[in-house]
Amino acid sequence: MHKYPHYIDGAVREPQGGDYYESFNPFTARPWALVAKGGADDVEVAVQAAHRAFRSPEWRNLTATARGHLLRKFGDLVAVNAEHLGHIETTDNGKLLAEMLGQVRYIPQWFHYFGGLADKLEGAVIPIDKPNMFTFTRPEPLGVVAAITPWNSPLLLAVWKIAPALAAGNTIVWKPSEFASVSALEFVKLFEQAGFPPGVVNVVTGDGADVGEPLVTHPLVAKVAFTGGERGGQRVYELAARGLKPVTLELGGKSPNIVFDDANIDNAVKGVISGIFAASGQTCIAGSRLLVQKSIHDEFVKKVVDFAATARIGNPIELDTQVGPVTTEPQYRKVLSFIEGAKEEGATCRLGGVASSRPECGDGWFVEPTIFSDVRPDMQIARQEVFGPVLAVLPFEDDEEAVAIANDTPYGLASGVWTENMGRALTMSQRLEAGTVWVNTYRAVSFMAPFGGYKRSGLGRENGMGMIHEYLQTKAVWIDMGNEVPNPFVLR
Ligand code: NAD
Repeated sequence: MHKYPHYIDGAVREPQGGDYYESFNPFTARPWALVAKGGADDVEVAVQAAHRAFRSPEWRNLTATARGHLLRKFGDLVAVNAEHLGHIETTDNGKLLAEMLGQVRYIPQWFHYFGGLADKLEGAVIPIDKPNMFTFTRPEPLGVVAAITPWNSPLLLAVWKIAPALAAGNTIVWKPSEFASVSALEFVKLFEQAGFPPGVVNVVTGDGADVGEPLVTHPLVAKVAFTGGERGGQRVYELAARGLKPVTLELGGKSPNIVFDDANIDNAVKGVISGIFAASGQTCIAGSRLLVQKSIHDEFVKKVVDFAATARIGNPIELDTQVGPVTTEPQYRKVLSFIEGAKEEGATCRLGGVASSRPECGDGWFVEPTIFSDVRPDMQIARQEVFGPVLAVLPFEDDEEAVAIANDTPYGLASGVWTENMGRALTMSQRLEAGTVWVNTYRAVSFMAPFGGYKRSGLGRENGMGMIHEYLQTKAVWIDMGNEVPNPFVLR
């Protein structure tokens, strides 16, 4: 098996403890690569390298235009390597090659967009209220940014942090998920090829406790950008608070996909399927609660069940596969236990509800696409993030009840509304407590559109121009143009 060391200061670097762990292919349930098992010592070396790079003239004195050019060049290199990176992602996390290739091919846009923004970060001259004084502001980078990312979209979700952080002039230590690190270790090498100075982007692999926590608490880390589950996010927030560090958190969800009786039904069926069974439900924005208006409930649920029953399950590396395995063994067990829980609570299992034993699934960690109806809002299956191919269907009477059920959750990441009535769509978009509302579509993201959670789904935003300020701080500069220094004992 190929060994993947850390990547620090522009070169591969053996873990100081000398240990490697096995990374598994979820389709075969067998190890396929060995990844460096990092610890606090490795974090120390990486943060020092990133800090040196941040202070180095090669990075600091680069004009913003030149920095932007490097980002765009890097984006072009990703495009050339997309096929290779996509195959690694599918082998490591078991998500469909069609999905991973689509994600990696889209990544260059982030580097082009934020590369273009690098030299448009302007300060302002303040028309200050004191005579003969010239006061202006300058946006400045924060320093070393810690990027901590999950396994479900390993590169894309890292890029949402890396592209803007670099455009703003920061340097980075990135800890990918211990379950899917290999693409990060291949991707990071392209920074050097693009001409970035060594140490600007570093990768240390390993788990949350051994690598993530020392990284968050390192005194030279100025900001933490985290995507992952609620428990990890809370821990990171607490640790970062001790160092008074700014944090962005992209966490989980229990997103409602709401279908009204005036919807285009065929489109809504496809939207519901794409919301929950694409990526085997392993997306933070999974539309895992289907809210259907009572007047079309039975007919609509039958259509969703019939459609889902035709999904081609199997090897994610084959481009016509529609549902792949669950990424990790613990996650596979967790999904099955949620299914058992839903049955015990009295939900009706309309499809699936078991691990998949089809021959085309081999030894992989597969769960059959599962649909539960007769779900009540108080059931665990309607409240907790499953992160697997499990849909909970809840009926509603009218708009008021739809809003009440949709918002009755501690989460607020995304939501979908299916209706041909634009007045209703706009009203719903206003009333739903979620960072994203999709109308007559689902699972659309862009480098241009702010993304993030309401309530317990997160803090701060990624994507879009405004979010660059998550990686900047503002300095005010005062120049006295020749006033006589007045009484030194009072505030000027
Ligand atoms: P996770 O929280 O277990 O792990 C995410 C990352 O955090 C990993 O790199 C992990 O090693 C690290 N980590 C865990 N505990 C840590 C700690 N105490 N200190 C520092 N780092 C720590 O999440 P996961 O299982 O990899 O991913 C699934 C979760 O991520 C789901 O809840 C999903 O909704 C969420 N997610 C959110 C978004 C979003 O943009 N909002 C996107 C994708 C996934």
